[in-house]
Amino acid sequence: MKQHKKYAVIVCNTCKQPKITETKQKTTKCMRCGKTLQLSKTPFVYETNTLSEAQQVIGQINASKDDHLDEFKTFLKKSR
Ligand SMILES: [Zn+2]
Repeated sequence: MKQHKKYAVIVCNTCKQPKITETKQKTTKCMRCGKTLQLSKTPFVYETNTLSEAQQVIGQINASKDDHLDEFKTFLKKSR
């Protein structure tokens, strides 16, 4: 059985803004467009137990262009 880690990095499905959320939450609000995101319907780009690691991932997403996001996700999957 897969156990969820404490923090997840998600990307808003409306405005593509990445954000950190706690995985125990059911919903989170996008800071950019104000949309309420259902975590059960939002894929986690990354999961970690440490907030600092999640912040690093956000930094890397922000540093890359939107059209490189899929590439970035592929990279994360391979690096696990
Ligand atoms: Zn948004």
